[in-house]
Amino acid sequence: MGDTVLKPGVVTGADYDKLVQACKSGGYALPAVNVTGTNTVNAVLEAAAKNKSDIIIQLSNGGAQFFAGQGFPDGGLAKVLGAVSAARHVHLLAEHYGVCVVLHTDHANKKLIPWVEGMLDHGEAFFKETGKPLFSSHMLDLSEEDLDWNIEECARVLTRMAKIGMSLEIELGVTGGEEDGIGGEFEESADNSKLYTQPADVLKAYDRLSPIGSFSVAASFGNVHGVYKPGNVKLRPEILKNSQDLVTSTHKTGANPLNLVFHGGSGSDKGQIKEAVSYGVFKMNIDTDTQFAFSAPVGAFVEENDRAFKYQIDPDSGTPYKKFYDPRKWLRAAEVGMAARLDEACADLGSAGKTVAG
Ligand SMILES: [Zn+2]
Repeated sequence: MGDTVLKPGVVTGADYDKLVQACKSGGYALPAVNVTGTNTVNAVLEAAAKNKSDIIIQLSNGGAQFFAGQGFPDGGLAKVLGAVSAARHVHLLAEHYGVCVVLHTDHANKKLIPWVEGMLDHGEAFFKETGKPLFSSHMLDLSEEDLDWNIEECARVLTRMAKIGMSLEIELGVTGGEEDGIGGEFEESADNSKLYTQPADVLKAYDRLSPIGSFSVAASFGNVHGVYKPGNVKLRPEILKNSQDLVTSTHKTGANPLNLVFHGGSGSDKGQIKEAVSYGVFKMNIDTDTQFAFSAPVGAFVEENDRAFKYQIDPDSGTPYKKFYDPRKWLRAAEVGMAARLDEACADLGSAGKTVAG
């Protein structure tokens, strides 16, 4: 504990595993922030550097498509090339921010397996060129499928990924809410017992996947994507402990053998975040809250300078408004807002000041 030192920049393979281990033994987790373009990527890097926190930069399939451009003629190809473009941007810049950066992708259901395989084609080519994969880890969310099929398909894809030093995040149990149209049904008033992962399922996945390579598990403990009215989401972090305990007692491992991921971190109670981290959560996804933090300052900026968004030169006073409508002004306000929300995430997760980059 505390001995891990890695080179700053994108971490993959054995270094990724060391970073995850440093988080778990140090009792902290990393924010995994969804990005959609260079403004959000740079805001995340800026916040990570300022907080001396290692960080996870993540793209959903929709975020990757947006990165390539909404006008890109082929949506399927845009999801692949947008992800590749984002990853190359981060590989080029990350080391200069002086922290370790994990590159990840978010939910891919059965229909999106070709997206993951398309990114792996590029990842393998990049590996040949540089000795590193493009991404540290992808995610396959086959939690809506039959459990055995979910695990076998994850085993097949992980076998390919392990060859180039990549990790795989899987999902067992259903995270409520929707993200890019993916995710389980969630009704705020309904009985949401489906939202809790069974420890026996986690053990089954561990038995099948751990001989193949590095993997992490998004386990459901009542978490939902998005932000809902207080009281409607009942988090039960002890579900995570039950899974860890079952694997520990079955395989006589040390404490917290599983690398766990907390989806739907936006809007969560800080005490329960701490409890989840104590049970081996090393990654907490955050999207909804950082989206709001990016957009709210733009709203305020436009409100304060409303005439600058109607006229290039004020028709009454003759004032030129270039320095207000220049996109760098209001986009910078957005970046600053997003980075400030990440100060809070790094504090909540205990990652501030803990970078292993040296
Ligand atoms: Zn999720």
